[in-house]
Amino acid sequence: MSEPLVFREASVDLAAITANVAALAAHVGTPHVMAVVKANAYGHGAEPVARAALAGGADWLGVADISEALALRDAGIDAPLLAWLHDPAARFDEAVERGISLGISTLGQLDAVTDAATRVGTPARLHLKVDTGLSRNGLAAGDWDTAFTAASALQESGDVIVEGLFSHLSNASPADDAAQREGFETAVRTAARHGVSPELLHLAATASAITQPESRFSMVRLGIGIYGLSPWSDATPEIALVPAMTLRGRVANVRRVKAGTGASYDYQWRAGHDTTLVLVPLGYAEGIPRQASGRAEVWIAGKRHPVVGRIAMDQFIVDVGDAAVGIGDEVIVFGDPATGAPSADDWARAAGTINYEIVTRIGQRVHRRYEA
Ligand SMILES: *Cc1c(COP(=O)(O)O)cnc(C)c1O
Repeated sequence: MSEPLVFREASVDLAAITANVAALAAHVGTPHVMAVVKANAYGHGAEPVARAALAGGADWLGVADISEALALRDAGIDAPLLAWLHDPAARFDEAVERGISLGISTLGQLDAVTDAATRVGTPARLHLKVDTGLSRNGLAAGDWDTAFTAASALQESGDVIVEGLFSHLSNASPADDAAQREGFETAVRTAARHGVSPELLHLAATASAITQPESRFSMVRLGIGIYGLSPWSDATPEIALVPAMTLRGRVANVRRVKAGTGASYDYQWRAGHDTTLVLVPLGYAEGIPRQASGRAEVWIAGKRHPVVGRIAMDQFIVDVGDAAVGIGDEVIVFGDPATGAPSADDWARAAGTINYEIVTRIGQRVHRRYEA
């Protein structure tokens, strides 16, 4: 029996995450697979998702911040873990001590992790990140020689272990990705000339891991796909993936209104005929995008119904027409479209954004329920 429905709830199907990782890992066939669980696992819950992904065959976990990595260690997860976006004032000692691998994007970070390794008395585990065209994080091409020379010496002296070399693609076009891949191969060769030949070479995130075998190298970093969502807004992967998150609420109020009645702030919407409005207790504080006001749908009583009027901080209104809906009934905001419910992609289209943002923004007031 399922547990009673909570006021605001995101249920996360952990078996779906395990299966999605297994399906993606089988498709890519790389020796290593990193599950990316940054930003609270795209809103799904970092610790349970990390365990589900490891069960599906991921052997690495990836996060942006060291604090996210430390939280996973605190939760008892001892799998290899990479953090790649650092506070300029970071000291790295705790990360080194607790065996967290560090992405290195500046020469300053290389110095700082070496200092930390010396203080802690443990070699720092590094993945050197090279910028191959995203112009975001990563060592600039002009710094590669210096960085590889330094890393090689530090590796010799035992201060660091260079475990990996990586970069990230723009997905701007196949040609742009190919140019970045060539840049990455140049970085790999340059590093090797300096005596740095790590086992883990990783470039691809979900999109290119699925479609570009030549981008897979020895590891792929899978984010959105493990949550069962497509990395593209105009296409779905050929691999069958199951959306893991279902966002629900309970109808908090029901009101029969006459034609002409306005609803929510600014009366952006007025009833065209007598109808029934129901109140859903999720708003932009929950991550429901206000831009989707009047453009999205939800699933109530086995049918899709339109969101009407402005989405507010804590709540929005749905026009259910003459359907018999009562206080306490279930509302599915989004979930697996195979059930008929709207998808995170439907909400993304309504709000002019991407599915990544829809799930990742789900807020603190939403109770997470995990289904094994
Ligand atoms: C977020 C992120 C990923 C995962 O990307 P998806 O498109 O969600 O698979 C991979 N690598 C890096 C560096 C990232 O920041």
